[in-house]
Amino acid sequence: MTNSNTVSSTWDKPFAPPDSIPDKADVVVIGGGIVGVSTAWFLAKQGVRVVLCEKGHIAGEQSGRNWGWVRIQGRDTREIPMMQEALRIWDEFKNETGEDVGFVRRGCFFTARNDKEMRSFEDWIRVAGEHGIDTRLIDGKELGRHVRGSAINWAGAIYTASDGRAEPHKAAPAFARAAERAGATVLTSCAVRGLETSGGNVSSVVTEHGVIKTSVVLCAAGAWTSLFCRSLGIAVPQLKVRGTVARTGPCDNVLDGNMFDESLGIRRRDDGGYTVAHGTILQHPITPSTFRWSLKFIPALLQELKVLRLSFGKEFFEELNMPRQWALDTISPFEKTRVLDPEPSEKALRGIRRNIDTMFPQLANTPIVESWAGMVETSPDVVPMIGAIDDIPGFHIATGFSGHGFGLGPGAGKAIAGMLTGVDAGIDTAPLRLSRFFDGSPIRPQSTI
Ligand SMILES: Cc1cc2nc3c(=O)[nH]c(=O)nc-3n(C[C@H](O)[C@H](O)[C@H](O)COP(=O)(O)OP(=O)(O)OC[C@H]3O[C@@H](n4cnc5c(N)ncnc54)[C@H](O)[C@@H]3O)c2cc1C
Repeated sequence: MTNSNTVSSTWDKPFAPPDSIPDKADVVVIGGGIVGVSTAWFLAKQGVRVVLCEKGHIAGEQSGRNWGWVRIQGRDTREIPMMQEALRIWDEFKNETGEDVGFVRRGCFFTARNDKEMRSFEDWIRVAGEHGIDTRLIDGKELGRHVRGSAINWAGAIYTASDGRAEPHKAAPAFARAAERAGATVLTSCAVRGLETSGGNVSSVVTEHGVIKTSVVLCAAGAWTSLFCRSLGIAVPQLKVRGTVARTGPCDNVLDGNMFDESLGIRRRDDGGYTVAHGTILQHPITPSTFRWSLKFIPALLQELKVLRLSFGKEFFEELNMPRQWALDTISPFEKTRVLDPEPSEKALRGIRRNIDTMFPQLANTPIVESWAGMVETSPDVVPMIGAIDDIPGFHIATGFSGHGFGLGPGAGKAIAGMLTGVDAGIDTAPLRLSRFFDGSPIRPQSTI
């Protein structure tokens, strides 16, 4: 097994700093993950002059490191319209752009080992019915026709045949290229240090390569959004969780789609291998933010108690020593960490190997050829925060995608582009406004599985 700690992106100019930057734009997007690049694509298609600034390379962080699941199954009802639209966009993307991101609909299974676990799926079956989604419960016999040769005797699963998967190392770069072809300017190795305002309104962004005048900014900075916003005096509740992921070499086809079991998350890849992760090891490194946001995160913490491991180490001191503000003519924290590239957990990797061998004895000799980790950023109710920031007219955020923003990304991009330009995208982002965490609304993680 090689521990490469890097995830290859198909962005063909990974660390190319720009020769020059535009001096003005209608909209500046901060962040070249799936949310930023999708938004830039939809804006460019509307004829908006959009500049996207990415501090490292496209899909360098969460969007290139995730499991690649594109699922509606189990989502919070606030995300369902956006996810329905996202699935339509994933379907059409290749035809519209000629870019193959490996999207196929091969189904999604969450397994149950006993009747009690089967019953826990019933709430979402009702939600699916209300929204016309093809989710259903299947018994162990039917599951065995989809998941071949497993040594586990499952009671059954919740199954959505229309859910899909795509290849993370291909997707965001492909959306970024599509955005460029539609007229967007995509700048990599170009960190945004901060904003300038005039009369209280956004008037420009200051990048490490110069100033871009604009009156509209979207911060889609993933795990960095809270820090960026804090430097502007805006509180964004956000915590990070480290997830370890691995991929096998090409092997027997034991499953065409995505499956989550208490011991393994596994999905078929377009190279004939599997992307795999441990079912119950997610690690939250305790940092000063853990204490700052602890009250708001209690409901999410209780929901994730079974899978969450707390750790205390260097991340605490790194965050403690991180400046909260900086002069815009000096190097910012965003340039100091071009790509957030955490170490995979050895314990999780050993567990992944053990659980593959136990679940699929026929894969026991299949090598794990690459492993990596990603920092998932989460909001207190595990649903994104999207909207305008009233204190700084012109400034908007789209963040907190909480471990399931890859699949949602293109739908979010369409909705956000509409929000920024006033073009009705048919997706209401109001329930996702940041202020829900500060206006006394109850904080309730809603996804039922
Ligand atoms: C291990 C793991 C597994 C996951 N599995 C799935 C899955 O199967 N399905 C699913 O739907 N989701 C999954 N997710 C979640 C999904 O990957 C994220 O929700 C999604 O990628 C978030 O996209 P984003 O564009 O908001 O953020 P990111 O992809 O993190 O992009 C943000 C970008 O902003 C850049 N940036 C930050 N600050 C600045 C600045 N000041 N200037 C310029 N650039 C800046 C960063 O460098 C980064 O590239 C998973 C995540 C992880 C880590």
